[in-house]
Amino acid sequence: MKEPARILVVGGGYVGMYTALCLQRKLRQELRRAAVEVVVVDPDPYMTYQPFLPEAAAGSISPRHVVVPLRRVLPHCKVVVGEVIALDHSARCATVETPATKEDGTGGLQLPYDELVLAPGSVSRTLPVPGLAEGGIGFKTVEEAIGLRNHVLEQLDIASSTRDPAIRDAALTFVFVGGGYAGVEALAELEDMARYAARYYHNVEPADMKWILVEATGRILPEVGPVMGQYAVRELRARNIDVRLETRLESYEKRVAVLSDGARFPARTLVWTAGVKPHPIIAASGLPRTERGRLRCTAALRIEGVEHAWSAGDAAAVPDLTAEGPAKPDEPRRECAPNAQHAVRQARVLADNVAAVLRGEPVVDYAHKYAGSVASLGLHKGVAHVYGRQLKGYPAWFMHRVYHLSRVPTFNRKARVLAEWTLAGLFKREIVSLGSLEHPRAEFELAAGTGRHHEAS
Ligand SMILES: Cc1cc2nc3c(=O)[nH]c(=O)nc-3n(C[C@H](O)[C@H](O)[C@H](O)COP(=O)(O)OP(=O)(O)OC[C@H]3O[C@@H](n4cnc5c(N)ncnc54)[C@H](O)[C@@H]3O)c2cc1C
Repeated sequence: MKEPARILVVGGGYVGMYTALCLQRKLRQELRRAAVEVVVVDPDPYMTYQPFLPEAAAGSISPRHVVVPLRRVLPHCKVVVGEVIALDHSARCATVETPATKEDGTGGLQLPYDELVLAPGSVSRTLPVPGLAEGGIGFKTVEEAIGLRNHVLEQLDIASSTRDPAIRDAALTFVFVGGGYAGVEALAELEDMARYAARYYHNVEPADMKWILVEATGRILPEVGPVMGQYAVRELRARNIDVRLETRLESYEKRVAVLSDGARFPARTLVWTAGVKPHPIIAASGLPRTERGRLRCTAALRIEGVEHAWSAGDAAAVPDLTAEGPAKPDEPRRECAPNAQHAVRQARVLADNVAAVLRGEPVVDYAHKYAGSVASLGLHKGVAHVYGRQLKGYPAWFMHRVYHLSRVPTFNRKARVLAEWTLAGLFKREIVSLGSLEHPRAEFELAAGTGRHHEAS
């Protein structure tokens, strides 16, 4: 019997999950006849809806509702939990490290394929800032978002119980580097949550906390345009948030954030959200890349000059066919920005094109005009610039919620998120820190006399 043609999807994020979803619908017949097989590889068995991470950090949405279980939504695909650690496209083979191969030390599973969809997304773009790698935290995963929430609440407990003013000061100082939507939304939501939580502490006032946003350029939230970006700066400053534009983090050694304007802040929290870069597996794959390290793709989402290889999303440099005006000096051609709006739409075109190739049909080009963005600045506050319309305050926040509710994948997740928001409107906010979840054996080790309670981070 003929082996099924295998489509290997590397990454189960926006692009990977939506591509597989579309493929399982488009190739229903071929999948049923076992003429085609779709294999999705991701280290996590879920897709993360990243725009909800700030709300998960604030406690407005449960962590498990910002993720979508891949096995449930992709019943006709094969989901492999593992990481692609090497790719040999000339031999059409991927090496996948799974939890089992890691344990038995066999060096990874060899996974041959016919068509490759390479969509590992991006990782935080760090700079060689002394102390950053040791003391900073990113904001890209649900684990980071929940870890940060617990950490912030734990700092309030430390500040409330210490007698040392230096420790108290550092515990109540929160530095965020990077003024894109990830950094601004994370800071705004966490500050909002911490200010609310402070009312339950007899000796911590909101005015005791220092929230600092450090941005290297002269504006924040470029996604919502200059007018709404300036409004966001004013709104944050009115909340006593110290927004420092045209400023960089110079170092974070011994938990002291030193800024390029000369300011020094002893701080136990440093969140790094200063942009993203393509996942390192892209460079290791040897496939054609742009100067910025993204996979060089055609408008039909093929990797340029390579047969049977496709990409989209944060990892891919896809020409923006709708862009007006000349390209930037450091960008030889106009490319789609790395965001969810493009990732979802590219995934659909990519799946159509892969299915078309398998059926010997022509492929189509991807073209989508960026519609604008919405951003939350905490409960009932936001900014939006969508289809040329600018909104701020409550209407923008409401639009942000409606938009993301319509976008979060699956009816199941929409219903759960809506139920949570409705209940949150009726009851008080959750302000509990479950940091001890990160040390589940601590209690038992203490009982067994082999350990001690974990130290506060
Ligand atoms: C906090 C935050 C808020 C955001 N808010 C917005 C917003 O409001 N609007 C918007 O448009 N965009 C937003 N974005 C950006 C958006 O989430 C990304 O552009 C989008 O996720 C890109 O999709 P992707 O599929 O390329 O990557 P991802 O969704 O990141 O998926 C990549 C997947 O590949 C997997 N992977 C990585 N390496 C490997 C490997 N070696 N082998 C196998 N699998 C691998 C990863 O585990 C991951 O699941 C936000 C991002 C963040 C972090």
